[in-house]
Amino acid sequence: MTIVLAGDRIEGVRPSPAEPGGPGHVWNLSRYTALPGLIDAHVHVFGSGDPREPNWFVREVTELVPTVAFNCLINAQRNLAYGFTTIRDLACCHYADVALRNAIEAGRLEGPRMKVCGIGLTSTAGHMDRAKGFAPGVVVPGPSAIVDGPDEGRRAVRANLRYGVDFIKINATLSELVRPLGGLCSPEMTRETMTAICETAHAHGRKVAAHCHGGVGVTWALEAGVDVLEHGRFLTDEQLDTMAARGVFLCPTLSPEAKARDLGLVPPDPHLARWQERARDAMYETVRRARRAGVTIVNGSDAAMPGVRHGEGGAYEMAQLVAAGLSPMEAVVAATSAAARCLGMESEIGTVEPGKLADLILVEGDPLERIELLQDLERVPVVIKGGRIVANRLPAAEAASLPAALGQSR
Ligand SMILES: [Zn+2]
Repeated sequence: MTIVLAGDRIEGVRPSPAEPGGPGHVWNLSRYTALPGLIDAHVHVFGSGDPREPNWFVREVTELVPTVAFNCLINAQRNLAYGFTTIRDLACCHYADVALRNAIEAGRLEGPRMKVCGIGLTSTAGHMDRAKGFAPGVVVPGPSAIVDGPDEGRRAVRANLRYGVDFIKINATLSELVRPLGGLCSPEMTRETMTAICETAHAHGRKVAAHCHGGVGVTWALEAGVDVLEHGRFLTDEQLDTMAARGVFLCPTLSPEAKARDLGLVPPDPHLARWQERARDAMYETVRRARRAGVTIVNGSDAAMPGVRHGEGGAYEMAQLVAAGLSPMEAVVAATSAAARCLGMESEIGTVEPGKLADLILVEGDPLERIELLQDLERVPVVIKGGRIVANRLPAAEAASLPAALGQSR
């Protein structure tokens, strides 16, 4: 195949070798596999995923705002290094995600394309209510805003829009972190609140992504009109059928529980440890049923969770999707064209075809034979974003042959 790049775009894809002597620079990379730039559709750039890093609650009250911003940059750049040329961030502190996206888009900092939600919307005592870990009166500048009714929902969406977010993140159901309210799959927001949030977001052309695990809160979220479900450990067949019929994406984020298993990480809270085990038992089967039901599955690692490192985590998630029954090609689609649709970027990225942005990676070996290859930085030697080489780890002789700018090269 010949892939013709011009400026920041793909100009053509031809099923024939490039003829020598034509215009531009011909670059023979036939010993590599070319893929579209990968997408991790669920990360949090404010955390690294290093399990030795202090707990989020501690960091949110101790870290300086500039420290948060530097961490976001470093973690975002790790995604790019591994070939994840686009990421979707599912809640950050201090709108550092928005600031970083803007700086990258303006070309002032190197980093992946970012779709960001600013702060997540949660309910009093909900999954992301940071105040619940502290005595009354303590103000915690966490990655969330409290929303306890339709009006507060509309206001919180608009507050996020004020700072320029790309989509809205809500918490539809609780987690085991919130046992007093029932934990696990209890609903968090009311149907009315979620409906107001979805109407306001959609009126401004923004999608809504809902953190959820299962139960009636998921059904309410689907009725309210959410566009993407995150996690979804305990979705029923009926809920999956509704998702398929309405084109609601599932971003199953299998990595946190899978990494905890691989690394032997056990949460200190016994309830949380038990919850993690139950979630792990259910999640692969849920993805298998989602695939059978025809739900569009997208690749998202939840990088920042303990053990889930940026970049490597996105590739690890693809291997988890294969473990859940997707073919390696389906996992690649989940991390490219399906994720691009989930981000509303399908006209720009996600496939290698004329007119799209030239986001490409080269892989040594065939990821369709061994999807784990993508977790190895050395096996992804070249990353191209918008026609620019942003990583070049080729052997010295080959590396020197690369043109600095790829415009008009083949
Ligand atoms: Zn997350």
